[in-house]
Amino acid sequence: MLVEGILQQTLELRSHRVKRVRMEEEGLVAEIVPRRNGKVHCGCCGSRAKWVHETRRVRRWQHVPLWRTSVILEYRPRRVVCGKCGLRTEAMPWALPKGKMSKGLVAFLASWAKALSIAETARRFGVSWNTVQRAVRVAVAYGLEHRPKTAVRVLGVDEVSRRKRHVYLTVTYDLESGVVVWVGEGRERTTLERFFEEWGPERAAEVETVCCDMWEPYIQVLEEKAPQASLVFDRFHVVKHLNEAVDRVRREEYRSLPAEERKELKRSRYLLLKNPWNLEPKEKRRLGALLNTNRKVVKAYYLKEAFQQFWEYVQPGRAAKYLNQWFWWASHSRIEPLRDFAWMLRRHWKGVMAWTTQRISNAALEGMNNKIKSLSHRAFGFRKAQTFIDIIYHCCGGLPEFITPSM
Ligand SMILES: [Zn+2]
Repeated sequence: MLVEGILQQTLELRSHRVKRVRMEEEGLVAEIVPRRNGKVHCGCCGSRAKWVHETRRVRRWQHVPLWRTSVILEYRPRRVVCGKCGLRTEAMPWALPKGKMSKGLVAFLASWAKALSIAETARRFGVSWNTVQRAVRVAVAYGLEHRPKTAVRVLGVDEVSRRKRHVYLTVTYDLESGVVVWVGEGRERTTLERFFEEWGPERAAEVETVCCDMWEPYIQVLEEKAPQASLVFDRFHVVKHLNEAVDRVRREEYRSLPAEERKELKRSRYLLLKNPWNLEPKEKRRLGALLNTNRKVVKAYYLKEAFQQFWEYVQPGRAAKYLNQWFWWASHSRIEPLRDFAWMLRRHWKGVMAWTTQRISNAALEGMNNKIKSLSHRAFGFRKAQTFIDIIYHCCGGLPEFITPSM
């Protein structure tokens, strides 16, 4: 019959066959039986089993739904005697070592969960949220195990936070291929240490450049675990700190203002942080009016804009001269947040200057950071950070597809 034929073919059964399919309340139940004269393999090592010891009770696996109808595979596994392993359960090419999902269902749900959220995948195919989450888990574990170990020359280290859920992750990227190398929960020194432990010293030794934030715990670990790599503080993170400094000035000033002037300053946040060439004419007029007020925030704004110049230099000598000049302005500005920022640059001078000669694509790091943030919606409903981590690996880890190896 047709349905038996479809299942038979898609399951790629060799030593087994679909005997018949019957309709039950839960859906289509496909009875699998051993082929007469079919070979029996050990489920542990895969080699030919010597003899069948016994046939066990019926087990069921959830398979890929057909026409929105659940499909259940039913089979009585046999215990076999293997020359190497002894008494084992036979190899069943459709089954995972554990659980009630078929390999086909895992591959199917995991591939959909690359395009849709977990919740949407579950809804569309009439399975539970947990089923999709587990499918992703299995596919990611498989992918991580089978991912080729290509050398990472430019390593990016970043932090991703989802404050609402109090989830903080440390993420490392291969910035040349734009792939997530590793994700771990936390953003402490120990988190990054864990990465290097799992990654191994051989791979750490292949790194030529590391790109990260000016964040002491990370820097210390990097200098310890990959001492040969040059450290570059990238534009994305430096600008982020600078914008935060300007915003701190604005907020401090806001508190000291009379009520009627507060409103305008409150609305000005994005004017001050946006690139001036991206402003609409009306916004430009508002920014102009604000800049005429001679407040601290205006000075901070000009300093922020002046800093942009630094990114343009290609000659290290000129870049250093300009950065020194800017440092002098900011450290003498009597604006505390800007002064703090300037001193942060001073402490990490070498890594900031390194950007002039080793331009790491800013788009790569910023793009990855934004992509990961947007993925947290895909994992919506997650209670454990692990689900979010799995989704990140699944969508950005460059993992090989989960395939169903046939026997
Ligand atoms: Zn065996």
